Amino acid sequence: MQAITYERAGDIAGALRAAQQPGTMFIGGGTNLLDLMKGGVENPVHLVDITRIRSLDSIDTLPDGGLRIGALVRNSDAANHALIRTRYPLLSQALLAGASPQLRNMATVGGNLMQRTRCGYFYDTAFDQCNKRNLGSGCAAIGGHNRMHAILGASPQCIAVNPSDMSVALAALDATVRVDGPQGERTIAFDQFHRLPGDRPDLDTTLAPGELITAVDLPPPLFADHSHYLKIRDRASYAFALVSVAAALQMDGRTVKQARIALGGVAHKPWRASAAEQMLAGHELGEGTLREAATAALRDAQPQTSNRFKVQLAQRAIVRTINLAANPAAVRTGGVA
Ligand SMILES: Cc1cc2nc3c(=O)[nH]c(=O)nc-3n(C[C@H](O)[C@H](O)[C@H](O)COP(=O)(O)OP(=O)(O)OC[C@H]3O[C@@H](n4cnc5c(N)ncnc54)[C@H](O)[C@@H]3O)c2cc1C
Repeated sequence: MQAITYERAGDIAGALRAAQQPGTMFIGGGTNLLDLMKGGVENPVHLVDITRIRSLDSIDTLPDGGLRIGALVRNSDAANHALIRTRYPLLSQALLAGASPQLRNMATVGGNLMQRTRCGYFYDTAFDQCNKRNLGSGCAAIGGHNRMHAILGASPQCIAVNPSDMSVALAALDATVRVDGPQGERTIAFDQFHRLPGDRPDLDTTLAPGELITAVDLPPPLFADHSHYLKIRDRASYAFALVSVAAALQMDGRTVKQARIALGGVAHKPWRASAAEQMLAGHELGEGTLREAATAALRDAQPQTSNRFKVQLAQRAIVRTINLAANPAAVRTGGVA
């Protein structure tokens, strides 16, 4: 058994100081990290508990009308916060679609951003081949059990997907991740935070060693009236997405002024469907336009041996989500346009 040392950081400076020790990991709610440690997937030598850093535990309005969500805000608190529910309902829905109430009570925003893939070969150390766990060892999911895996942006080294629901909404909302670290503070545009696997699938994000996520900033709300998060999964709760869609629209009557669409469950990072967004902007919403946009969103899809179904599932989910975002009344009445 490997010995682990543990300390509680009282402030950001203390956490950053402690993280200089090689083999250190931060621990938030522990809902992902502890499972990975028990399975021998993550093997930190030093754990820095950041949950007592009070300055990271609040939700504050920004001068530009946006919102800053501290990295230690629990997923439940974020989902149920009045300003998030009213101004960013997309984010609230995505958070509530994740995990279970008990897990959301523990899970932090920073930890959610950093949670690792749910690829079974990554979790099961009995499999030697996993480039994410052991770079250069191969990828057992390619040609293996890959029903849940990526259809977009994968590489010959890794076909794992990012499992976070929250991150799909943050991608659509163009959030910014604030971090602090040995080189000082910096901000990372959400699209640049998670990585595609390329030839370094061991790296999920662009966070540098020793950096701490301090907050997520949301731009001023533009989409509160027309947004929707749809998660399609094998069970109605407590299951990761096969495919999910976050759609945020600015509408002028039936015409789309601006569309933001992000997909979950399809790639190593939340996947912005930029081609579909451009096809919808300036157009009246109609079944034909929607189907064309959904087709464009999946044009580059390269399914694996067992997940070809995800292509059509994602296309249909896009159409359905945009219809629901455009017609919020249909959600309340249970009808789908
Ligand atoms: C059974 C189960 C079902 C789940 N279902 C879903 C689901 O459907 N959808 C979904 O989205 N999620 C789901 N989750 C995942 C859950 O959302 C994550 O486990 C949780 O969000 C992680 O947050 P945490 O604070 O517990 O992170 P921790 O476990 O504490 O940490 C996770 C990682 O983040 C790092 N970290 C934590 N905070 C910071 C920080 N501030 N700066 C830098 N690094 C940091 C840690 O070092 C670690 O690497 C599920 C989890 C379980 C166990």
